[in-house]
Amino acid sequence: MSLPDLKSFEVWFVTGSQHLYGPETLEKVAEHAQKIAAAFNSSKTIPVRIIYTPVVKTPEEIFNLFQRANIAENCIGLICWMHTFSPAKMWINGLKIIQKPLLHLHTQFNRDIPWNSIDMDFMNLNQSAHGDREFGFIMTRMRKERKVVTGHWQDKAIHEQINSWCRAAAGWHDLQQAKFVRFGDNMRQVAVTEGDKVEAQLVFGYSVNTHGVGDLVATIKKVKEKSVEELCEIYDKEYKLSGSLKKNGKQHASLREAAKIELGIRQFLESGNFKGYTDTFEDLHGLVQLPGIATQRLMADGFGFGAEGDWKTAALLRAMKVMAAGLPGGNSFMEDYTYHFEPGKNMVLGSHMLEICPSIAHTKPSCEIHPLGIGGKEDPVRLVFNVDGGAALNATMVDMGNRFRLIVNEVEAVKPKNALPKLPVARVLWKPLPNMNTGCTAWILAGGAHHTVYSQNLGIEVLQDFASIAGIELMHIGKHTTIPEFRSQLKWNESAYK
Ligand code: MN
Repeated sequence: MSLPDLKSFEVWFVTGSQHLYGPETLEKVAEHAQKIAAAFNSSKTIPVRIIYTPVVKTPEEIFNLFQRANIAENCIGLICWMHTFSPAKMWINGLKIIQKPLLHLHTQFNRDIPWNSIDMDFMNLNQSAHGDREFGFIMTRMRKERKVVTGHWQDKAIHEQINSWCRAAAGWHDLQQAKFVRFGDNMRQVAVTEGDKVEAQLVFGYSVNTHGVGDLVATIKKVKEKSVEELCEIYDKEYKLSGSLKKNGKQHASLREAAKIELGIRQFLESGNFKGYTDTFEDLHGLVQLPGIATQRLMADGFGFGAEGDWKTAALLRAMKVMAAGLPGGNSFMEDYTYHFEPGKNMVLGSHMLEICPSIAHTKPSCEIHPLGIGGKEDPVRLVFNVDGGAALNATMVDMGNRFRLIVNEVEAVKPKNALPKLPVARVLWKPLPNMNTGCTAWILAGGAHHTVYSQNLGIEVLQDFASIAGIELMHIGKHTTIPEFRSQLKWNESAYK
């Protein structure tokens, strides 16, 4: 399931007013709203289409617009703005039914007060300063979750904030009715990858169901030899292929097997309309290798993935890939693997047995084969690569029993200095913010998993917006985090979510 073009999504620009002002003023309101919508629509920062909708002035118009937004397939959210005063009791019935994410834009058309010409006509038209407060009250009174963005509409910072929210809304939209397939159960006895799949569907809109690994094996067995041949050639072209895997190499049969597995999984996912999957090394019955390069390449194409049955991470990865569509850099399944505790240079080595997404690779990956030592299958083919330094983050979703908690730690990735010749897996080095001690302590206190989504191109604001849209808890670990404050927040949240 490849990633959607974010330009196929619409965000509706909604302007509120009332009839009190008369047609002349209302024409001006419409004209100004169209200009703002057009500016957002052509902004290079805002990734979706912004659709102007006619100014709403009555409860009926508001209700009808929201009703249409709810069923409009490509509408992923609404930006609401009150150019003038729009008495907010008119909005109650509409706000009661709206199911799409909301952003309240608190702006005004003119940037500066025209000191010499300002008169009461001007004052009657440019009323966002109080009109938006009336709207804000009713949203708060109704406990409506929304993002509020304040500032002049031409300001770049406003476009950035709208961009974050649009991306979060796109990820959210993509999860609605999304299907994820599990091949096998969660790894035996593991706690953190478990969770309530019914609750996940209620909260996030996606479903998770199991198919027997035998069904997958049957699909793999049907893969045509010619397709295998062609994919092996693609491997040879796109990666630095080890000599033994090459056409006349003595392990070429393993490469063919890996290609067959990739084609089979891809076929299974596409025909079932699945947006991601999980597998587990404990349930590979009939599979010749644990899927390595297959999973890596499927992730790079936009599928979500979680190892060891981790369906929460599979869904989060898919959503984050959609949120990041079109941005340079990538998003991958990740695991905190091992630590470097050298004084002053503490860092984490992140990796997995095989399944790291090449969208985060710094250089052309090499395609290699090595024994795995786990799962009891034949040696799997995998892509090996390093990952560049720079700002990044790790995100994980845990099930607290009465709610989902998203935990995000901003990190500073470190360009690897050592070759690690005996570690044949893709790997990343990073320093957690604010530092190793505080970052990891906070993560452990919050119950953060060892599995994460590692993102090079999403900022904390996108995930905050996503958590807000989903109505879930978010614990943020960043440069300002201190343990006493973090502990307090965890404690307060226990009461907030009771
Ligand atoms: Mn794992």
